[in-house]
Amino acid sequence: MIRSDLHTHTTFSTDGKSEMADMIESARGRRIQTICFTEHMDYDTHYPEGEGTFVVDTDSYMKRVRELQFRENPDNAVLGAGQSAPDDMYGPVEVLFGVELGLQPHLVEHYKKYTASYPFDFIIGSSHVTGGIDPAFPEFWEGYRTEKDAVLAYFECEYKCASLFDTYDVYGHIDYALRYAPSVKKGETREFSYDEYGDILDELLKTIISKGKGIELNSAGYRKGLHRPNPDISILKRYKELGGEILTIGSDAHVTTDIAADFDLAEKALRSCGFTGHYIFRNRKPVRIDFDE
Ligand SMILES: [Zn+2]
Ligand SMILES: [Zn+2]
Repeated sequence: MIRSDLHTHTTFSTDGKSEMADMIESARGRRIQTICFTEHMDYDTHYPEGEGTFVVDTDSYMKRVRELQFRENPDNAVLGAGQSAPDDMYGPVEVLFGVELGLQPHLVEHYKKYTASYPFDFIIGSSHVTGGIDPAFPEFWEGYRTEKDAVLAYFECEYKCASLFDTYDVYGHIDYALRYAPSVKKGETREFSYDEYGDILDELLKTIISKGKGIELNSAGYRKGLHRPNPDISILKRYKELGGEILTIGSDAHVTTDIAADFDLAEKALRSCGFTGHYIFRNRKPVRIDFDE
């Protein structure tokens, strides 16, 4: 059973729905021992009116994490370092301080400064806005001749960011764009074909591996119309084949009820790809956790 959720959002994120303390209660109820909050830091995006800015107030956010770390584990609430997941299933929850950076090629220097300013345990680098717009909006897809061209452009941007940036531990939801592909939205959930995008995906995965970074299995895909994780199982399998080892598991919950959602399916998917464990991060250092026998 997977007992850590490394990708969650609270009301500190523009689109988060639940308070941090409530997220921890939900994690406890679901026998999660380690939760990492990864609030949105999407610098320099221009979302349509009313969508918010997706820039977390990191000082207030960190303060709240520290308060709750102390409440959960008063003896050991120091900056993530030396914390260990408690054995007691419904006991204290290990709370980690993370962030999800919205990577765009021109933000390398900005994020270098930002990430050096806070003692994060874990950083997810994600591509949300690509070429000025998030694939969650139809305008992204309208900018390309075909759906395939749009997906290719998205992967190419990820490849560029994976190469340019060092300020991430894992690359988030690598095929995020597909959640919003017009064909998926229409319910024609066609199978994802790795080979169709094999050249660019191989380059992307090799870059991530050679930099000593990892990827995540994001279980939100199961509940966002894809009926599979992000990324697709074929991408997870290829990552493993290419020698990829570091992989975190996150629900991308924005509300208490999504904590650890579909983690049973996630574990099954990973085992089918040959993974025998997964990772959490403390103080930006990977810690391996084997799957139960
Ligand atoms: Zn994301
Ligand atoms: Zn997220």
